[in-house]
Formats: sequence, structure tokens, C-alpha cells
Amino acid sequence: MRCLIATDIHSNIEALEAVLEDASGLGCDMYLCLGDIVGYGASPREALALVRDRFDEVVRGNHDAAVIDAAESFRFNENARAAIEWTRRELGPDERDYIESLPLTCHIDGVRLVHGSPEDPAGWHYVKDTMGASYQFEAFEEQFCLIGHTHLPLVVSLAGGTLRSETDTIVRLRPNIRYLVNVGSVGQPRDGDPDAAYGILDLDAGRLELRRVGYDVERARRKIVDAGLPESLGERLLTGA
Ligand code: ZN
Repeated sequence: MRCLIATDIHSNIEALEAVLEDASGLGCDMYLCLGDIVGYGASPREALALVRDRFDEVVRGNHDAAVIDAAESFRFNENARAAIEWTRRELGPDERDYIESLPLTCHIDGVRLVHGSPEDPAGWHYVKDTMGASYQFEAFEEQFCLIGHTHLPLVVSLAGGTLRSETDTIVRLRPNIRYLVNVGSVGQPRDGDPDAAYGILDLDAGRLELRRVGYDVERARRKIVDAGLPESLGERLLTGA
């Protein structure tokens, strides 16, 4: 099984289309989305439609949750909350029902999926580094746990009680080692690289690849401005910060 991993799309249809185009020749047979389909960006309906059409397993992110339950946005900053309120007005009942149907966590063949942390999926905790990851391995039984939420790539392995941060973009996976993986954000990267981030997990070949792909960032930025959303949400796309 070869899995495409995408997370934190954030209503950025330009970035999501570029990822799917880039991956089109790579033979992925399972498409996994780790949530935050919406929020921040100007194309929530298009992003939801494409995720529903193309992805096999999808879990709910905190921005998705905030669209259907305003109480979930209490920790959001002003700009994030403005974008969620705009998104809520844009979506129809069918789209809200779809978001409501998304689970907080699920698993397939040795792979756990969750937006924030496996330890507390509804708590939206940020797993930012190896130390943060160390608390998570006891919370899932599978060999792999795929997370999102921070918008920062992170691959941590656990072998015989030893944690290791894997810094290569291609990681050779070994059967007796467990991994916590964040491939970074499709639609709003925050690691200083504006290109869309996603990953390919090949379970048969034992290979994980973190990939980046350029897209029309200026078009995504302009749509944010034209929609009347906070301009800074578009500006940060230009720098990936
Ligand atoms: Zn996010």
C-alpha cells in the first residue's frame, strides 16, 4: 500500500490541486487527510469537494470542528476566528454534515490518523518536537501515527526505548521501529518554505518521503483579499511563515 498523506489544507485549493497533480504519477492507492480542510483560506467549498472526491480516510481538525461548533474557536486568534465565521457562512448544510461526520481519529493497516495528538485527539495539543512526541507513543498501538496541526514537518522514530528525530526527506522505514509523522501543511506551511508540503508513505517498500511542490501562491493570496478575509492570512502564504 502506498499512501498519500495530506494535512492542513486550509481552504487552499491551488495548493491541494498542485499536490494531487504532483502525486498523480506516483502510484498512490490510499489517500489520507489529517484534517483542517477549511479555515484561513478562501476556497472552503472547493477544498471540501476535492477531499470528499479523492481521499479515502479523513479525520477532523480543529478548524473543521470550529465551523460546526463555535465553542471550538475559543482559543483562536482574531484572524483565525474571522476566517472561521466567514467559512461558516459560505458552507451549506450538506458540507457541514460532511464535516460533522468526520471522526477525530481512525486507523488503517498499522497506521493511526489524528489531527493533533493521539494522547488526546479532542484536546488539539501541538506535538512540535521530539520531546513532545515522547508522550505520544504510548497512546497508539500501530507502527505509524500520522499527525498534523503544527504545520511543521516532524518525523520521530522510537526504537528500543530511544527516540530519534529523522531529518532526511526520505526515511527508510524498519519493521521493528515505530514512527510519529507530520508531513507539514498543504495550504499554509509555517516552516519558512511557501511550497505545499505532503508525504508519501510506502508500506511495502518501507519508505517515507516528505515532498514539496510549488503552486500559484499569488492567486491563493488574492482570493483571500477579494473575499474580504484578513489580508495577513494571504501575506503569510508568500513566505510560508
Ligand atoms: Zn491547521
